[in-house]
Amino acid sequence: MNYFDELKNIKLYLFDMDGTLYLGDRLYDFTKELLETIRKSGGKYMFMTNNSSKSVNDYIKKLDKLGIKAEYGDFITSSQATSYYLEKYHKNARLYVCGTESLKEELRRGGFTVTEDLNEVDVIVMGFDTELTFKKLHDVSYMLLTRKDIPYIATNPDYVCPTEFGSVPDCGSVCDMLYNVSKRRPIFIGKPEPLMPILAMEKTGYTREQTAVIGDRIYTDIKSGLNAGALTILVLSGETTVDILNSSKEKPHIVMQSAKEILDSLK
Ligand SMILES: [Mg+2]
Repeated sequence: MNYFDELKNIKLYLFDMDGTLYLGDRLYDFTKELLETIRKSGGKYMFMTNNSSKSVNDYIKKLDKLGIKAEYGDFITSSQATSYYLEKYHKNARLYVCGTESLKEELRRGGFTVTEDLNEVDVIVMGFDTELTFKKLHDVSYMLLTRKDIPYIATNPDYVCPTEFGSVPDCGSVCDMLYNVSKRRPIFIGKPEPLMPILAMEKTGYTREQTAVIGDRIYTDIKSGLNAGALTILVLSGETTVDILNSSKEKPHIVMQSAKEILDSLK
């Protein structure tokens, strides 16, 4: 089956950002025109990110610097998806957040109480914590060991976050440290889980058949799209090489050199 034909049914484009629309601080030359063309053709695009260390406002600023105007509703972040999950399964819970102030802000915005009083915590939330301290690791260890069934969730399973010099430990790595202590693993919310695309579809009212997930990583972006039942488009403009693609068990529906091919298909 030629999945390329299915592109014409797509109304909702869920874009991974780094490696898909830009690389670090360099916007790809087709990105602006691609986004404008989607909008003009009556479609909708959203930016989807696992990074829970930054707030949506941080991303609005980052995109603005690159020359792209975006607003709050244009984003689906793992922080928002975590808030959505908590609303569904742990309504009114008091949260211990091992994460940045930005993540706490996002969860408060979702109506939750963030507390550091370990006796009143209902749910532990782990994020990509660029403000991590030993005290937080101590607190979470204490709760995991003294309250064996306390709900324990994490924004994203990534082991590393890319930097200019390579990478730094991300949420998944810190959760591994805590596994060594407690033998417990959290419920992960971000990609490759389907929750972010599902949330985007619910928010916009588009169906799976009308939704495409576009990204440069098979084990997060593409898996998340496959798990959500959307059309998946792998772009080779970021992390994934043809060799990685060939040796991967999971396959995207469509492979493109870059998202410019979506622009070409819309013209
Ligand atoms: Mg990426």
